[in-house]
Amino acid sequence: MAIIGGGILGTSIAYFLAGQAKDPSSIVLIEQERDIAQHTSRRNTGKVHAPFLYDPAKKKQFAKAAALGFEMWEKFAKKKGLPFVRDGVIEVALDERGIDRLHKYMTWGEANGLSKDELQFLEKKDVEKLEPKVRCEAALYCSKDGSVDYGAFSQALLRDLRSFGCTVLLGQRVRQVTRTSEYVISTEPGQRIEAQFIVNAAGGNTIDIAHSMGVAKEYTDLHFRGEYWQAPEQYHDLTRLSIYSVPRNPEYPFLDPHWIVRADGRREVGPNAVPVFGPYAYTLGKNLASMIPKIIESSPTGARKVFFDKQFLSLASTELKSSFSKTAMINRVREFLPSLRPSAFTTRGTAGIRSSVIDKDGKFVPDTLMIKRDSSLHILNYNSPGATGALPLAAKVAAQILETGVVSAGTSRTLWEPMEIADKMTT
Ligand SMILES: Cc1cc2nc3c(=O)[nH]c(=O)nc-3n(C[C@H](O)[C@H](O)[C@H](O)COP(=O)(O)OP(=O)(O)OC[C@H]3O[C@@H](n4cnc5c(N)ncnc54)[C@H](O)[C@@H]3O)c2cc1C
Repeated sequence: MAIIGGGILGTSIAYFLAGQAKDPSSIVLIEQERDIAQHTSRRNTGKVHAPFLYDPAKKKQFAKAAALGFEMWEKFAKKKGLPFVRDGVIEVALDERGIDRLHKYMTWGEANGLSKDELQFLEKKDVEKLEPKVRCEAALYCSKDGSVDYGAFSQALLRDLRSFGCTVLLGQRVRQVTRTSEYVISTEPGQRIEAQFIVNAAGGNTIDIAHSMGVAKEYTDLHFRGEYWQAPEQYHDLTRLSIYSVPRNPEYPFLDPHWIVRADGRREVGPNAVPVFGPYAYTLGKNLASMIPKIIESSPTGARKVFFDKQFLSLASTELKSSFSKTAMINRVREFLPSLRPSAFTTRGTAGIRSSVIDKDGKFVPDTLMIKRDSSLHILNYNSPGATGALPLAAKVAAQILETGVVSAGTSRTLWEPMEIADKMTT
């Protein structure tokens, strides 16, 4: 049984499978880098998101996983002695349209299990009392929102699954997967791994691996680099809470930068969402290197339709502008925190890249896609709040695999029974 990808998702799946298996060494986690969680799983905003932003009809999987993820990570952090700061967030509306959106979020939050104490509507004057430096017309205050370090969480999971006896292969890039009676996974620099079942959780490479196995050919992906600016010390007492704003365009809710309070007390502005050509295009050189293959891959697919969509092109140009210009980026947050001065920001934060899946009509897929084909499972479009939901989604995947009998169950060593979590994910 092999899991491709040692991000927070693949590592969580390996944790549940190795933690339940009779023979944990038969669970193989394969990661291309020399360590796990080197990409999106440590390059994110570090929020344990409350599920008020997710439409329970369109984003059912994300909403369920976020609702369950909060308690699970809180318990995990306590057990491992890792920081879990329940610091809360406010979502601000700058106009009437935004206020309408807040009412919708209230309804979604309640439907997704948040109580009246945990999610409150604030009039303008209430916001002024709670966060005097914030300017807005109204807001939602959610107390059930946390700040953590998902890179550290992934490392703690790795220690656990190693102690269970899981086989961890680092520095092995999956190059090819073939199938006769079993799968044969060939890696670079040159291992050959046999597996009865494969879980493909390779983040920004998931779709390429799926395509190479003849799966999900009707989908393609687009990559967006989320960049951050670190706030100088002088702004550390500006607010107590993280401040998010209602997305300008609900179709693309990941486009608007926030004011972020990190678990270690740092403050940052970000992320924007700059279109780039590959999942590791952190620098200009890497971006240009991915350009030609991405253009060739995209030409017969739905992504081409997105490239010619006027609204998308206009949004993309705003994002590009905020990548080149620090002032343009900080000004987006100044709309609700006017005392920020762009010139005070001198250090960039750590950028991360999200890979959004596009269907054949050129539409962004709203939820996670789990595609099972033969003895393989491919987890596509695993975006925000992916880190928040990694444990519950992994438990659901593990429960499905244990049910097939591909992995024989032995003594349970995990903090949760995967079947119990899987049941909660479906109710
Ligand atoms: C800017 C930004 C901010 C975010 N903020 C938040 C947040 O605050 N809260 C939240 O819940 N979520 C957030 N997210 C989303 C969250 O970070 C992701 O959903 C999550 O980290 C995805 O985890 P993953 O394991 O699927 O992917 P990844 O972390 O990308 O892991 C995939 C792994 O697969 C490996 N891999 C790829 N190809 C191969 C191969 N061929 N062979 C072997 N290994 C391979 C990669 O090296 C990588 O380690 C954010 C995302 C971004 C981009």
